Amino acid sequence: MVTTATTTQGNAYDVALENFDAAADRLELDSDTREMIKYPERMLTVTVPVRMDNGHIHRFEGYRVQHSSVRGPAKGGIRYHPQVTLDEIKALATWMTWKCAVVNIPFGGAKGGITCDPKHMSLGELERMTRRYTSSILPMIGPEQDIPAPDVYTNSQTMAWIMDTYSMTKGYPIPGVVTGKPISLGGSLGRNEATGRGVSYTIECACEHLGLPLKGATVAVQGFGNAGSIAAQLLHEAGAKVIAVSDSTGCVYNRNGLDIPELMRMKSLTGHVQGFPESEEIHHDELLAMECDILVPAALENAIRADNAAKVRARIVAEAANGPLTPAADRILDGKGIFVIPDILCNAGGVTVSYFEWVQDEQHLFWEAQDIYNRLERVMKTAFRDVLKLHLDQGVPMRLAANMLGIGRVAEAVKLRGIYP
Ligand code: NAD
Repeated sequence: MVTTATTTQGNAYDVALENFDAAADRLELDSDTREMIKYPERMLTVTVPVRMDNGHIHRFEGYRVQHSSVRGPAKGGIRYHPQVTLDEIKALATWMTWKCAVVNIPFGGAKGGITCDPKHMSLGELERMTRRYTSSILPMIGPEQDIPAPDVYTNSQTMAWIMDTYSMTKGYPIPGVVTGKPISLGGSLGRNEATGRGVSYTIECACEHLGLPLKGATVAVQGFGNAGSIAAQLLHEAGAKVIAVSDSTGCVYNRNGLDIPELMRMKSLTGHVQGFPESEEIHHDELLAMECDILVPAALENAIRADNAAKVRARIVAEAANGPLTPAADRILDGKGIFVIPDILCNAGGVTVSYFEWVQDEQHLFWEAQDIYNRLERVMKTAFRDVLKLHLDQGVPMRLAANMLGIGRVAEAVKLRGIYP
């Protein structure tokens, strides 16, 4: 029987703080600057009562955390998951700040979430929960303040409900309050696949740097959702061989390569990858330990930890998910000479096209898909080059290099702004 991998052991916020300290030490940041940029600016916990389909009221707990607005409005997704905690949201908000700075877009960092099990809720229950949560966090959000987007188990429909609730309260349509909206409501072409596309650009850069041909390279993807499935599809189109893929229900493997377009079709129809024809079922742990060129963790935090990192046999680990490696796992992979493309670089394509969407909404002028792909490619490849340069010049791991770049830019901005009053 296939069991679900444990992906949420440990505290993601502790990881975020540890990684901050390592970068701040290396940058020799003074203690005043550290105090100013390390911790979240605002945190809100809300009670979200929802009338369920059975007539009873269920109380959910929701959060919105703004980690930083130093470089621009706070920006970050909203997650619906049974294991959402305030600490997890604080970690994700912190990483958003450094991520936006790494790709040099004028946003700070935020994140939100509700502790719930969306897989066992009806569409009506999800809509009522989303609208009530939106009205509870309403004082914090807005196109100039804090702009939510989709994350795990939220999507463009969720964003449409948030946009509508916010707009009805203000009395006029305000599409720029969220990104990742449906195209017909002011969404951007290319946003849905932006994270996966960005992941594939950074993998392309890493392969080039390592002299590893992407054509024919073997790939394993943990988490076949928005980020993971699109990355798999683009790598498949580039000639790579995606040999293993998992979602929360199971894990499928074919050493000659899985038919990714067919697998995507099946996942969209059935909601799972399990039972895919011409594949064999393997355990979640086997996927992470698989001999392959590129491993893409695209599910949740802490997938690779001290207890399983030594088994990783990939040459490149591309972090499509946020925080899939613990610091202990980082050290082990570094010792094995595995090239890690850190999350705040690897998955920054999503927030980059979110930025494009927000700019288009604010200007009421929409761009063509190719224009968006070209701009995204430029941003991602420039960020990769900047991080790689620090990695090589300073002799530090890629994650430390990315954190130094992002944290250094935020530190510079806060020094220029000074402290109010
Ligand atoms: P999603 O809800 O579309 O997909 C998540 C996938 O992971 C699902 O297929 C689910 O079944 C699978 N999954 C969950 N637990 C698993 C487990 N234990 N083992 C294997 N698979 C498991 O979510 P998403 O938007 O693709 O987000 C995935 C990760 O990417 C998250 O860490 C998220 O923060 C990060 N991310 C997403 C975006 C974005 O634009 N969607 C942007 C940046 C980062």
